[in-house]
Amino acid sequence: MHRQRRTRIIATLGPASNTFEMIKKLSEAGADVFRLNMSHGEHKDASALYNTVREVEKATGRPIGVLADLQGPKLRVGEFTDGSIDLEVGQTFILDMNDEPGDQSRVQLPHPEIYEAVEPKTELLLNDGKIRLLIEKVQEDKITTTVTVGGELSNRKGVNVPSAILPLAALTEKDKGDLAFALDLGVDWVALSFVQRPEDVQEARDIIAGRASIMAKIEKPSAVHAIDEIIALSDGVMVARGDMGVEMPMEQVPPKQKKIIRHARRAGIPAVVATQMLESMITAPVPTRAEVSDVANAVFDGADAIMLSAESAAGEYPEEAVATMNRVALSIEGEPSYRRMLNRDETMPEATTADAISAAAKQVAKTIEAEAIVCYTGSGSTALRASRERPQAPLLVLTPNIGTARRLALVWGLNCVYSQDAVNFQDMIDKACNICHEYKYAGVDDRIVIMAGMPFGTPGKTNVLRISRVQDYHVKV
Ligand code: PGA
Ligand code: MN
Repeated sequence: MHRQRRTRIIATLGPASNTFEMIKKLSEAGADVFRLNMSHGEHKDASALYNTVREVEKATGRPIGVLADLQGPKLRVGEFTDGSIDLEVGQTFILDMNDEPGDQSRVQLPHPEIYEAVEPKTELLLNDGKIRLLIEKVQEDKITTTVTVGGELSNRKGVNVPSAILPLAALTEKDKGDLAFALDLGVDWVALSFVQRPEDVQEARDIIAGRASIMAKIEKPSAVHAIDEIIALSDGVMVARGDMGVEMPMEQVPPKQKKIIRHARRAGIPAVVATQMLESMITAPVPTRAEVSDVANAVFDGADAIMLSAESAAGEYPEEAVATMNRVALSIEGEPSYRRMLNRDETMPEATTADAISAAAKQVAKTIEAEAIVCYTGSGSTALRASRERPQAPLLVLTPNIGTARRLALVWGLNCVYSQDAVNFQDMIDKACNICHEYKYAGVDDRIVIMAGMPFGTPGKTNVLRISRVQDYHVKV
């Protein structure tokens, strides 16, 4: 139950991981949060996965977060008479609103918004950026282009328009249906794809109305530009390197990753690094050196969580992929240089009691070499501030709210235990000591640091910092 690892692991579920046995294995191997990718599968599949995760949670006793990832306004071409074509450099290729199957000279592009937003010299990227088209002429329902990088283009491949902010709604009709479904299911987090502007997050926030936390996927250059405004409206951010690497030159992705993580930590919200982290493990039981290095560097960057996509959803080695992330993260976190990096990126506490107590708890725990910091929280906001300090001592979060425990499962270092609120000061100490002992954070005579708010059960009132020693009577028999 006790996890020493601070960096969290998100595993995407899919055909390779849809049974109780496999999800339990992934959880035991180190997955803290499971992602339901709403781009694939039907609602009944997602419901079955959700219910299975909850059964695994019951079996393991550790709160598990579930993240529903909405497809967002992903643009796609239509279909071809022969399923695919081969585009040659220099040829003319037309995109139009005609829904007849395409051929060597044209294909449907069923998104009227693009026709308004682009102009000659705008670049269109197709099929994960493998194909490039340069726009020559734009008419109301027809775009004429020249192929600058050719290749095979098959049915329904994606289209990216990096240089334009498209007048697309943040949530498509499909997203709205998926969102209502996911909220009914009870997911803890909702991820928004292709966020272009802060307003996109606000729109989702209005609909979600506190029923789930919101993760903005940063994959558009415009979102990188507005990163602080987006962070201010989001509960978490994802460095969505797949589409980001299409929307901008790939070599710009690593510095953006570092920047997004740094800004998220400053604001005190979790940052997730995603896509191709262990890509070769889709078909191999061991990763490449470069992949291990990538996972290691995301941990060094201070990411709250690292994510598996196809590796766990559709690969041949889901459990090995989670175990690899677990091993790499643990190893890096044990390096003195990791601690130096966390301290280097430290940001000043804000002028609130929660921040004052969080910073003090970190310092006190270090000075007296406490075995753990215990944080009582209802909404989770104090625990987020405590995590932002990145203390050396393990963080144990006690909350009477199971939703809080699940949501915090993707935040750096937070080990959540679902437990009744303390009824008085002595009970606050006893509960914290009991649980620290039960979960093997501390033995008899060891000291712990407790953060809480009095009166108990009032949100936003963190005002107590207490040092306690575990006593014989705290040991439950
Ligand atoms: P996706 O998002 O897998 O839903 O596209 C992640 C990414 O683009 O990296
Ligand atoms: Mn994406």
